[in-house]
Amino acid sequence: MADTYDFDLFTIGAGSGGVRASRVAAAHGAKLAVAEEYRVGGTCVIRGCVPKKMLVYGAHFAEDLVDAQHFGWTIGEKSFDWATLRDSVQQDVSRLEGLYGQTLGSHDVTIFNERATITGDHEITLASGKVVTARYILIATGARPFVPQFPGNEHVITSNEAFHLETLPKRILIAGGGYIANEFAGIFNEFGCKVTIANRSDTILRSYDASVRDRLLQISMVKGIAFLFHAEFEHIEKQADGTLLVTLSGQEPCEYDAVMVATGRVPNVEGLGLETIGVEVGKRGEIVVDAFSRTNVDYVYAVGDVTDRVQLTPVAIREGQAFADSVFGDREPYAVDHSCVPSAVFSHPPIAAVGMTEGEARNTLGNIKVYQSDFRPMKNVVAGRNERSLYKMIVDAGSDRIVGIHMIGPEAPEIMQAAAIAVKAGLTKADFDATVAIHPTMAEELVLFK
Ligand code: NDP
Repeated sequence: MADTYDFDLFTIGAGSGGVRASRVAAAHGAKLAVAEEYRVGGTCVIRGCVPKKMLVYGAHFAEDLVDAQHFGWTIGEKSFDWATLRDSVQQDVSRLEGLYGQTLGSHDVTIFNERATITGDHEITLASGKVVTARYILIATGARPFVPQFPGNEHVITSNEAFHLETLPKRILIAGGGYIANEFAGIFNEFGCKVTIANRSDTILRSYDASVRDRLLQISMVKGIAFLFHAEFEHIEKQADGTLLVTLSGQEPCEYDAVMVATGRVPNVEGLGLETIGVEVGKRGEIVVDAFSRTNVDYVYAVGDVTDRVQLTPVAIREGQAFADSVFGDREPYAVDHSCVPSAVFSHPPIAAVGMTEGEARNTLGNIKVYQSDFRPMKNVVAGRNERSLYKMIVDAGSDRIVGIHMIGPEAPEIMQAAAIAVKAGLTKADFDATVAIHPTMAEELVLFK
């Protein structure tokens, strides 16, 4: 296809969305180049979902080793070595990075390990000075942690640095009440750090069902995580001994060994040269796209977090796939369905959800039925652990269709992946009732709601 241009497609950013789009476009016969200024794999693989999940696994042993004794195991002296886990995780991240690179290579994709900037119509200039042209440009540069402005904010870390800490902080303040704050609070708490979460409002995980997030708050507090609400940074002062003296609104100054900020992520659009060709950027810095991931410039597309639609890896992958199939495949263009996307928070215990919360369903549908199961998992009973799970099903009373499922408890994300298929397919409460339970499981609660 590339005749007047060097490439059919030039992708900027080799994260989940960019790699999928590039690999699929190449498989459709396009001549491809990808530029990545950091590491191939992007946030999810290098400093997000994947290494985070490994830390969650590592952290959970803290509880498992205690619980094991109730099941008859004698555990000798136990200790945790952060450096061992950190380095094992990084080794696997490097392995995955290699695999991503190999995938691109085996599809004959040219990889430029440097920054790329759009410098003219269909023209990209690389950091080395090399200039190339492309028929299409795909922007898949993702997002980065947002750090609020306040005196002393140069002393904070973000999730990017959390994976590489030299040592674990004895006392850590985590700002934000969203996904990253709650996931890392659970991780650090299990490792024995004293964790405090500070959020600007009094709501954690705003988009999740109120009952489920209240349960996480309650369990987290029992586990020893402290919460400060309506607390915003005023300033941070680094003291002579290296500790951080943090002043939050409405609070006495308090000392911490580390402060991590998890207050949302902003699209990476700076320095891309978007203004050179007039690509429209929205109020939150996101690249504005239509349902087909097309920008206002007809040969420029964008997928993933840089478009700030749904900041989730599997969504970016679907957007990349749909773009590549639509532009380079032998089929009609198609759009990604962004409705009913299941999600999970890998807190301790995890949360998982699909569809409408009870509040959203009441506001949109009015007449709903809510089924709830509040139970203590069998394993927790034997372990003497007083931690209860909560499953909730929201049903449209008129049609009996399930419009939402919300869970907090062990393995909730694993269970939800299957349950989400039923909700997406529009199944009814009667369909769930007609399904025989697998006993004894936690998931059987989903077909036993009364
Ligand atoms: P979230 O959007 O989940 O939460 C942001 C938090 O920061 C909220 O509590 C919000 O408060 C607060 N906040 C927002 N802006 C400010 C500000 N200007 N000053 C102070 N506080 C602020 O963001 P995260 O950073 O935790 O995660 C970013 C995204 O990454 C998530 O939205 C998610 O899409 C993705 N992600 C997904 C994961 C998963 O799938 N398991 C894991 C990690 C990240 P309030 O709500 O009170 O306004």
